[in-house]
Amino acid sequence: MTTNAPITVAYGDGIGPEIMKASLKIMQEAGAQLDIETIEIGEQVYLRGNTSGIESGAWDSLRRTKVLYKAPITTPQGGGYKSLNVTIRKTMGLFANVRPCESFFPFIETKHPLMDTVIIRENEEDLYAGIEHRQTAEVYQTLKLVSRPGTEKIIRYAFEYARRNNRKKVTAFTKDNIMKFTDGLFHKVFREIAAEYPEIEHEHWIIDIGAAKLADRPEQFDVIVSLNLYGDIISDVTAQLTGSVGLGASANIGQHMAMFEAIHGSAPDIAGRGIANPSGLLLAGVMMLVHLGQPEVAEKIHNAWYVTIEKGIHTGDIYNANISKEHVGTSEFTDAVIANLGKMPDTIKAVNYSAPEDDPISKSIELKSMPPSDKQLIGADVFIDWDEADRNPDTIGKNLAAAANGDGIELIMITNRGQKVYPDGAPETFCTDHWRCRFHRPDQSPITHQQLIGLLQRVTDGGFDFIKTEGLYTFDGVPGFSLGQGQ
Ligand code: NAD
Repeated sequence: MTTNAPITVAYGDGIGPEIMKASLKIMQEAGAQLDIETIEIGEQVYLRGNTSGIESGAWDSLRRTKVLYKAPITTPQGGGYKSLNVTIRKTMGLFANVRPCESFFPFIETKHPLMDTVIIRENEEDLYAGIEHRQTAEVYQTLKLVSRPGTEKIIRYAFEYARRNNRKKVTAFTKDNIMKFTDGLFHKVFREIAAEYPEIEHEHWIIDIGAAKLADRPEQFDVIVSLNLYGDIISDVTAQLTGSVGLGASANIGQHMAMFEAIHGSAPDIAGRGIANPSGLLLAGVMMLVHLGQPEVAEKIHNAWYVTIEKGIHTGDIYNANISKEHVGTSEFTDAVIANLGKMPDTIKAVNYSAPEDDPISKSIELKSMPPSDKQLIGADVFIDWDEADRNPDTIGKNLAAAANGDGIELIMITNRGQKVYPDGAPETFCTDHWRCRFHRPDQSPITHQQLIGLLQRVTDGGFDFIKTEGLYTFDGVPGFSLGQGQ
């Protein structure tokens, strides 16, 4: 009977094949039990005219094995090629990006010798939904979508990760002082879920001051969870703070599949020279072995790697004549790690991965069922492209109200880039050609969709170019829309 875990391996481009061979050799010597299927992704696939960089047959392998161990790929120069990582993440629902950022002081130079922080980034939504529109000559829009299920999944993942890895604190970064709905939801769900993990400390920082603290004193942070864009930025900053971005590994975890890779790219400048550092990919492999339920093998490799780093056996990218003892290439480094399997580090704290989990974390994530709420349409924000009369807000306001008010529905206010300009705007406010015009009844009583269509008909008959509308809804009587700045 075989207990081998099936995985899909992509050797990638540039230094990819060299470091993948090295990592798999170490895993094999350490006793990893793997059934490997190989797929081709990346440059050659792109150059054959497939703009996604992955063939349909490769998806079959991923669906079979549910785990992708991926070396870096080269994205060909020129436009039209879609990001393979984004495609894989979205197609396979890999909602969590996990990036441990650890210093290896005094063996690798860093200004932050004590840092040991894990960044957990939401991977599927937020501004990365890719829904973008040009709406007027002057104004462009990207939609920021944040869902309760998406938020619950990533925050619960962060707390489960902390619990299972004996981490003491989870910190959330948001900008909910400004984005009260999207980031506000993230903060609210963070507080709700934190209450279920009383043994884990929790705190929240506004992303700007939080990121400043992180850059200054990263050792104060343990696990950080954030939305997609903030997480993208702080995970690179944090990896850089360790002093060794080239050693960084990351896991992309979904409820059905997972992908493990190094942070760095395919390094075409050193490809084929036998000098690449396989550590980032190897440490991603360590995360994969924990995920596959082979923690004892993961632990053996991770500690052997620490020993190798401690002994000063370093590849060129981390070699420092004052610290390092031996300047080695990929294969010597690989052999050194293999020779150190079974040894424990002296200075760097050894890892101790817990017994195999019954289930990977992602399987234990259950979403709360939300009771249905009473949703009522009470009006609409009608966005209008208008570039007349020196863009005087009073002119558009008076003309629009005269044309469109009816059915008891009235023009309540107009904002320009969110700032209220009508009625009673400040003459100093700069106005673009993009006007958000809010209509509802003064008592905010419900309206029908038919009445909304009637409103849009009157707007059009009045000669106004409406770009789009956003329905104004209440949920159990609570407004589901923000006020205008200055309203
Ligand atoms: P890169 O990370 O490949 O290289 C940056 C620098 O770091 C280079 O000098 C390189 O030699 C060095 N370096 C990187 N990894 C190293 C390693 N393991 N050992 C020793 N030195 C290493 O970044 P880049 O040059 O901006 O990108 C090269 C290609 O990689 C591009 O086509 C890019 O699109 C792609 N890329 C792929 C991924 C991925 O597949 N996940 C990620 C980033 C970049």
